[in-house]
Formats: sequence, structure tokens, C-alpha cells
Amino acid sequence: MLLELDGLEVAYGGIKAVKGIDLAVDRGELVCLIGANGAGKTTTLKAICGLLHPRAGRVRYDGEDITGTPSYRLVARGLAMVPEGRGIFRQLTVEENLAMGAFVRGDRQGVRRDLERVFEIFPRLAERRTQSGGTLSGGEQQMLAIGRAMMSRPKLLLLDEPSMGLAPLLVQRIFETVCEIAREGVTILLIEQNARLALEISTRGYVMESGTIPLSGPAAELLADPRVREAYLGETAAADVEPVQDRT
Ligand code: ATP
Repeated sequence: MLLELDGLEVAYGGIKAVKGIDLAVDRGELVCLIGANGAGKTTTLKAICGLLHPRAGRVRYDGEDITGTPSYRLVARGLAMVPEGRGIFRQLTVEENLAMGAFVRGDRQGVRRDLERVFEIFPRLAERRTQSGGTLSGGEQQMLAIGRAMMSRPKLLLLDEPSMGLAPLLVQRIFETVCEIAREGVTILLIEQNARLALEISTRGYVMESGTIPLSGPAAELLADPRVREAYLGETAAADVEPVQDRT
């Protein structure tokens, strides 16, 4: 396993936001963590990448215990995160933002090649390479945030709600890109409220509710699961035309 959470518990003061969860992502997998607003998804991600200290449990990455390791150290070890709200540098140009993603790397030629690669994936960014980040549209900023994470040559990419606030067509484009990145061999943990889209592109999924993970499994099984369909895919049990088999 490239990433393993074992009994992870995270609290804000007296409030437990993550209540002892287990989660694993194997090399080459695209795994999603879905759940409603406030379920604890972002908190989990922050604990993985060292932005929050877990109260209990362990985070293992690439064979080592990284619990509590600061995020800047993890970037150098191939763990990159695209935060909710993107976190791009508004004053810097598109090209400078992308260069910041590669600051841990010494191979200038490789960085040059990857920059061109990001511009191939996102032609829109290439057209705007000298424009400052703050003047980009929401969708373009999301592309820039993903592009910047790609510049660190990650082994594991953590994506926090890449679809948030984007028009449906752009969401589609972002998800296609996530698939493309996965096909190139980057392992991805995708956090999403858009459960249907996330499950459609993932190999496996975890469902988070009030700090716990009541359901997990292959994405296709979760998509067919009546509990998931009712709670996360906007389908009512009454609209379920197929007979539901009780698998318990
Ligand atoms: P969203 O999709 O809204 O980001 P989420 O599943 O990512 O939801 P979290 O942001 O992880 O959920 O929040 C989990 C719980 O922790 C929520 O009840 C939230 O109110 C609480 N919480 C989050 N950040 C803080 C904080 N800084 N201080 C106190 N409580 C917090």
C-alpha cells in the first residue's frame, strides 16, 4: 500500500471530526472519499499531509510512518495536495505558480518538460502563462492548482473537491484530467461531494459520515448500493426500479 490510515482520529478541541478511521490506497489506484458537507473529509486530508496533528492513529506512506510530518517534507517525498479553494498565488503569473510546484526539484530539464506537459493537458493555462493567477476564472484556477501539484512529480496526489464551484462542463473537463493523470501512473486520493462522478472514475471508494466510514468497496459496487444511491446519488428508494438484493 502506498498510503494507509490506521485508526486515525482528529479533533478540534473537544469536537472529534474524524473518529478512528481505516483507509488504504494501493500504488496506481484512484480512490475516492465521498460524503456530505462536514463529514470530515477535509480534516482527514489535512491530517494525512501534516497540516493537522491526529489525536490517535497512524498515517503510513510509502512504507514509513509519517504521522505528524510537516507538509513541506512530504512534498519532497512525492506527496502533493491540491487544497479545497485551490490556494494559488494570486500575484504570481501562471508560469510562476507552476514553477513554485517544482521548487523541491533540481532537474531543470525535467521541470521544463513537465511545464510543457501541464500546458498540453491544460491549453487554457498555456494561453495565459504570463497572466497573474488572481485574474483567472474559478475553473482555470483549479486547473492551475492541479498543474502546480503535478509539477512536483507526485507519487500520491491528494485532491480536495476539485469540482467545487465549477460549471458542469468544466467539472467534466477536470475529471477527465484526473483520469489522465491517473493513467500516467500517479496514485490519487480524490475527495468529493459529487459522489456519482467520483465513483464513476475511481477504482474504489470510501463513504464518510460524521467522522466514520460506514461503507467502502469497489466503486462499481458502491454505485449500485441502494444506501449510497439514496443518500448520495439523489435517488429515492421508490424510484429504484431494479429489485434490490439484500446482500447482508
Ligand atoms: P466540506 O465538504 O464542507 O469541506 P468535510 O467533509 O471536508 O466537509 P471537514 O471540513 O473535515 O468536513 O469538517 C468536519 C467537521 O469538523 C465539521 O463538523 C466541521 O464543522 C468541523 N471543523 C472543521 N474545521 C474546523 C475548525 N478549524 N475548528 C473547529 N471545527 C472544525
